[in-house]
Amino acid sequence: MNKKTIRDIDVAGKRVLVRVDFNVPLDANQHITDDTRIAAALPTIDYLLAHGAAVILMSHLGRPDGKVVEKMRMAPVAQRLSELLHRPVQTTTESIGPAVATQAQALQAGEVLLLENLRFHKEEEKNDTDFAHQLATLGDLYVNDAFGTAHRAHASTEGVTRYLPGVAGFLVEKEINFLGTALEQPKRPFIAIVGGAKVSDKIAVLERLLEMADGLLIGGGMANTFLAAEGYEIGDSLFEESKVKTARALIDKAHEKKIGLHLPSDVVIADRFAADAEHKNVPSNQVPKGWRILDIGPATIADFRAVLQDAQTIVWNGTLGVAEMAAFAQGTNAMIELLAQRTSEGATTIIGGGDSAAAVEQAGAAHKMTHVSTGGGASLEFMEGRVLPGVAALQDQ
Ligand code: ADP
Ligand code: MG
Repeated sequence: MNKKTIRDIDVAGKRVLVRVDFNVPLDANQHITDDTRIAAALPTIDYLLAHGAAVILMSHLGRPDGKVVEKMRMAPVAQRLSELLHRPVQTTTESIGPAVATQAQALQAGEVLLLENLRFHKEEEKNDTDFAHQLATLGDLYVNDAFGTAHRAHASTEGVTRYLPGVAGFLVEKEINFLGTALEQPKRPFIAIVGGAKVSDKIAVLERLLEMADGLLIGGGMANTFLAAEGYEIGDSLFEESKVKTARALIDKAHEKKIGLHLPSDVVIADRFAADAEHKNVPSNQVPKGWRILDIGPATIADFRAVLQDAQTIVWNGTLGVAEMAAFAQGTNAMIELLAQRTSEGATTIIGGGDSAAAVEQAGAAHKMTHVSTGGGASLEFMEGRVLPGVAALQDQ
């Protein structure tokens, strides 16, 4: 990565303002159901504290849309963070203002303050100059470790860098290094697996992967549009009529470039979109009317396994079926198992995408992969080759 990191600056005695991604899932009682994102920021926070900094953390949580929403306060996050850090974490009831400024001024080396939810202010997402300036006055230095929001130019990710010198935290560094190296200098063969709901979400990434990968495996809802482009009947499956031409063009391009583009040869179909729907396995070209494709089938899993057998780099974005429903999670779970195995055999495996990462976490297999990205949309945009504004705004090495 060509950006400065916290290793490159002197933080001793400084108040360091750190944008983290603490946007964790909460249940109805505001209990954190998955603290992966909090844990992912610990290396940066621990490093800053160990090097004599006072740490001021800021994040958004949920989508309060510019208003104070009691259920989206940062308090439960502060509590969990305190447990993980084994030290107190101070909180505020605001993210800017005189009281916050006073509290930040009083913060001593080794102390931690977590600001209230940034998105209680509509100015955050609007990248408002004054709001960004008020945040910036709280610290002497700025660190961005919120990879999950780095694709957005918000006040706390981009605006603040107009007033404070900014460097990357360890999570941002790790994400950029893993995703960047996998895509730009992959050990070959390099095989990409792309699934998920819609072709329209993934066109840019498919096009870029066709430039770089040696093979492309396609599953999930978006495979349906490719099957339609091949002229198959797909019943009531999710499909994007307006993207059939795009799918056709991608198939032709893969052919031209002699890159294997693999579509599901068989699928699991259901009589309705429900966890307890009646379901069965059929070849992809034999989907009866009134049925819908919700997962890849066992023959496809075997095809995909064969392609991945000698892959040295595997990048995966998008679940291969409706993995939220156990009956239609088989393709996704088989792929998780296979990637864990390939990792143990020395392949580099990178998983990006919120739902795919969640499926890997849920299977308890995250530690068996080379890297599971914490940034859903951000990792997709990075894989598309786009500049992430929250990273671009940091100081160059
Ligand atoms: P990621 O978050 O990993 O990038 P996406 O958001 O693109 O993945 O896609 C995941 C979504 O795709 C899930 O909600 C899943 O239910 C849906 N999906 C996958 N396969 C199908 C299918 N065959 N039909 C309908 N929805 C599907
Ligand atoms: Mg998703």
